[in-house]
Amino acid sequence: ISWSAEDEAIIATNTDATECKRCAVELGYWKDEYISYFAKHVDRKAPEINRGYYARVKAMEMFIHQFLERCGTKCQIINLGCGFDTLYWRLKDTTQAVSNFIELDFPSVTSKKCHIIKRNKQLLEKICKEGINGEVVIRSGDLHSDGYHLLGCDLRCLEEVRRKLQAAGATAEAPALLLAECVLVYLRPEAALALLRHLAAAFPRCVLLLYEQCNLSDRFGEVMLRNLSARGCPLAGAEHCREPAAQAERLVSLGFDAARSWDMETVWRSFPEDERSRVDALEMLDERELLLQLNTHYALTVATRGELFADLDLAG
Ligand code: SAM
Repeated sequence: ISWSAEDEAIIATNTDATECKRCAVELGYWKDEYISYFAKHVDRKAPEINRGYYARVKAMEMFIHQFLERCGTKCQIINLGCGFDTLYWRLKDTTQAVSNFIELDFPSVTSKKCHIIKRNKQLLEKICKEGINGEVVIRSGDLHSDGYHLLGCDLRCLEEVRRKLQAAGATAEAPALLLAECVLVYLRPEAALALLRHLAAAFPRCVLLLYEQCNLSDRFGEVMLRNLSARGCPLAGAEHCREPAAQAERLVSLGFDAARSWDMETVWRSFPEDERSRVDALEMLDERELLLQLNTHYALTVATRGELFADLDLAG
């Protein structure tokens, strides 16, 4: 398979995200015992970047827990463009490990992740089912085990997504949590819309967490767009990064029952006060204005299907 230069740039965004997360974890923003397996050495990032990643990870976590509170662990998590995300291992250390966890990304990313898992006992032992001699099958770059599947897949190709999800045991019968953290912006709008429409139709009880850029039509947004474009985002791909309310409306038009969207400044303010003070004290911010700009140009959108999830909300 040959990848275009744009695809290479997109794949590199995972390295960047992983390094930023490791840096923030080392500074005490949140705990993640597994991130250091995936990013070896990292330079210190600007405090505004660390704060941005903190809000991103905590916001995702808040809704992951709300989802699990409502449906228990007999459910599936599907991580789209998973990169080197460590959520699977973090959940395994709690009482909230789910029945089936499926991760999709470009094969060059999943095969690297696969390699890192194989090399590190701490990662691998959480994939083998405890007690039984759990089998881990690695075939043409895909990893299958009982309850964890890591599969190479181009999200722009719906047929491949369907096939891979099926091979991983995804089912319409169980509630599904769909994660898309900084991923869909790298797809052309038609491809992103087709994928979302397909997922909404395939999972009658689901929650989609979509974290991405928003409000890109102002001057700060234009700079972000140029950066995105340098990192392989088809410029038109950011077309759907509109204001949060429009993002939510778009998801309802694609087949979700309901959707809500908040910019990250609103999300940050919804965090408990003691937690915000703790984080505020970790590092001096050089540029509060820059942080505000960043926060108002990223949004978390939560779209749901099914009664069970109708009341998901900030600080729920
Ligand atoms: N979701 C992870 C996180 O937040 O840490 C990784 C985010 S990284 C910015 C974007 C990820 O999306 C990369 O791992 C990239 O390879 C993946 N991605 C982008 N376009 C994709 C596509 N068409 N098919 C599969 N994966 C894709």
